[in-house]
Amino acid sequence: MSTPRVSLTVEQRTSLQCRLKERDGKRCFYCARNFRARPLRRKTLDHYIPHWLWPAWEVDNLVLACERCNLAKGDVLPWPLVWLLLATFRQTEWEMAA
Ligand SMILES: [Zn+2]
Repeated sequence: MSTPRVSLTVEQRTSLQCRLKERDGKRCFYCARNFRARPLRRKTLDHYIPHWLWPAWEVDNLVLACERCNLAKGDVLPWPLVWLLLATFRQTEWEMAA
């Protein structure tokens, strides 16, 4: 399942990248490498929670990622979020059983 992505203007993209750089620094959120001006090391905007699940361009759900990490992650949920959901589900199950 995927929803069409609204493309950003160059100004919107630049503004988001500046805000994310201030928040997270100038490195890839996933591999912590510096961005470079060559393929797979260039800077991209990544939806931490996939765009199909949270279809908005909000800073709270965006990170800067190199192309390699962005491609590798694709449209799947990040592992920390999966563990959090599983832990919450298990805790709710235990509370219901008690
Ligand atoms: Zn990376």
